[in-house]
Amino acid sequence: MKNGKIVKVSGPLIVAEGMGESKMYDVVKVSDKQLIGEIIELRGDRASIQVYEETSGLGPDEDVVSTGEPLSVELAPGLIEGIYDGIQRPLAKLKEMAGDRIERGVYLPAVDHDKQWEFVPCVETGASVTGGCVIGTVQENVLITHKIMIPYGVSGVIKDIKSGLFTVDDTVAVVKTESGDKNITMLQKWPVRKGRPYKEKMSPLTPLVTGQRVIDTLFPIAKGGVAAVPGPFGSGKTVVQHQLAKWADADIIVYVGCGERGNEMTDVLNEFPALIDPRSGQPLMKRTVLIANTSDMPVAAREASIYTGITIAEYFRDMGYSVAIMADSTSRWAEALREMSGRLEEMPGEEGYPAYLSSRLAEFYERAGIVKVLGDKDATGSITAIGAVSPPGGDLSEPVAQATLRIVKVFWGLSASLAYKRHFPAVDWIASYSLYADRLGDWYTDNVGEEWVSLRKACMRILQEEAQLDEIVRLVGMDALSPANRLTMETAKSIREDYLHQNAFHEVDTYTSLSKQQYMMKLILTFDRLAGEALTKNVDIEDILELPVRERIGRAKYIPEAEAEKFDDILAEIKKEMSELVGDGEEF
Ligand code: ADP
Ligand code: MG
Repeated sequence: MKNGKIVKVSGPLIVAEGMGESKMYDVVKVSDKQLIGEIIELRGDRASIQVYEETSGLGPDEDVVSTGEPLSVELAPGLIEGIYDGIQRPLAKLKEMAGDRIERGVYLPAVDHDKQWEFVPCVETGASVTGGCVIGTVQENVLITHKIMIPYGVSGVIKDIKSGLFTVDDTVAVVKTESGDKNITMLQKWPVRKGRPYKEKMSPLTPLVTGQRVIDTLFPIAKGGVAAVPGPFGSGKTVVQHQLAKWADADIIVYVGCGERGNEMTDVLNEFPALIDPRSGQPLMKRTVLIANTSDMPVAAREASIYTGITIAEYFRDMGYSVAIMADSTSRWAEALREMSGRLEEMPGEEGYPAYLSSRLAEFYERAGIVKVLGDKDATGSITAIGAVSPPGGDLSEPVAQATLRIVKVFWGLSASLAYKRHFPAVDWIASYSLYADRLGDWYTDNVGEEWVSLRKACMRILQEEAQLDEIVRLVGMDALSPANRLTMETAKSIREDYLHQNAFHEVDTYTSLSKQQYMMKLILTFDRLAGEALTKNVDIEDILELPVRERIGRAKYIPEAEAEKFDDILAEIKKEMSELVGDGEEF
C-alpha cells in the first residue's frame, strides 16, 4: 500500500494526505516511530487520524502507512487477569519494557503467544459447526473455563480436531468449508467498533446480585441491564463501581478505568489482586479483566477504551457467561470524544460535544443485554453495563448525563448532601429508579422468599412518606406530628441508617446476601408493625422508641452471614419487649 504523508499535527490528531487507498477506521502506523493511530475521517485522499500515543515530535512529511485493518482486539485464553490500556496493550509488560514512561510505538500482543494451554475438545470429527459453536475448552484458571469457539463466518464440518497442549496460534481444528479447509486456532480477532453477533435479545428477568442493599433491594439491576451512576465529585461513584466489580454475581468482570485520576486506577491495581471471592474462595482477579486509561494517558486511547472493554465482554458473553462491565467514567470518555471532535473542526453541539454524542453512548449501551448466543442451542449470555457519569458540579442537565439518562433503565443518583453527611452509598432513594424492579419480583419471590416484594414495597413507601412528612416538620416542627407519623419518621430513619447505609470498608457490612437483606428488612418492619399496634393500645411513642431491642436492630448489619439464627433471636426479642410494654397479657 502507498504511504501517506503527514500534513498537520494537532495534539492527538494528525492529518495525512495520500491516503486514498485506505478505509475509514483503518489502523495506521505513523512515522518511523510506528505510532498507532486510527482513521476517523476520510475526505478524498486526506485522512484525519487519532493517534493513540503521544504525538510530540511528529511533523509534516513523515510517513503514514495503513495496515488495512480496523482497530481490533485479540480474544483468546490469557485474557483473564489481563491489565490493558485502551487499545489492549498489556500495561504490565509495557512498563517492564519501558519503565513508567511508556515507550511509543511499542507493539505488544495482548495475550501471551508462547504459552501453551491444555485444549480439551468437545466435538468429534464429522460434526457440523457454525460460527460461535464451542469446539473445546481450556481451563484458563480455577474459576474460568475458556470456551474455544468457531469464528463467525466459518461453517462446515470438522475434518480434524486435536487435543493437548497448544499455543493460541497453533491449529486445534480443521473445518471443511465450501471454500476449502479452514484452520481454527484458539485466537480470534474482532474489530472493537462492531458489536459481535448473537441470535436474539431477550428480556432480562434475573437480577445481578450485588450485595449492596440499596441496589439489590430498592433499585436492582437485571443481568443484561444498563445502569448509570451519576454524581458529583466525591459522592462515591468509584466506590460503587469497585463494590460491583468485587461483589456482583457475574461470571466475568470487565472494569474500564477511563479518564479518571491515575491514583484511583493504582488503587484498583493494588487492591483487586488481594481480594478473595466469597463464593469461590479464589482471588477475584481470576474472573476480571482491567482496562486502564487514566487521565495522564493519551486521550484518543481513552475514546477507544470502552469499545475494547465491551468487545472483550461480548466475547465472554458468547461463551454463555454473564459479564458485567463498569466504565468509570463515561463523562471523561465523552470529553475525549469532544476533544477529538474539536480538533476535527466539526460543528459543535451542546457544550461543545459533537452532535453524535448521544448516538455513540447509545451504541455502547446497546451492546449490553441478555442474548441467545449463536453457537449452542438455547445457551444464553449476558452483559450488564454500568457507567459512572461525573457531570461538572453534579449538574444532571448537562449533555452527557442527559443523553445517558435517556438510554439506561437504572439510575442510581448519588447525592452531594448525603455524601456530605457521610451517608454511603449516597444513592438518593427519592430520585433514583430501576425499571427492572417490577419484572424481577417473581425471581425474588421464588429465590429469596415470599416476603421480599412486600418488604421492599413497605420500605419504599415509608421512605416516601418520610419525604412528605419532612415538609410538615420543616413548617411546624416534629411535635406537631401524630404518634403514628412520629413512628413513620423513626422507621424511615431506621431504614436509612440501619439498612441503606452500608460501609464498603467494613469486613462484614461490605457485602450482604439477599437472604440477610430480607432478614434485616423484616426486623425493621416488624418493629414498625408492632409499634403501630402498640400505639393503638395507647402506649407512649417515647417508651416504644426507648426499647433496648432497637440497638440490636441497628447493629444487625454486622451479623456475619453464617450466624443467621441471630436474626430470629432479635425478632423474638422485638415481640417480647413490645408485649411487655403493652402489658395487657396478650403476646405479639
Ligand atoms: P467519586 O468517584 O464520586 O468522586 P469516590 O467513589 O472516590 O467518589 O468516593 C469518595 C469517598 O467517599 C471515598 O473515598 C470514601 O471515603 C467515601 N465513600 C464512598 N462510598 C462509600 C461507602 N459505600 N462506604 C464508605 N465510604 C464510602
Ligand atoms: Mg471517581
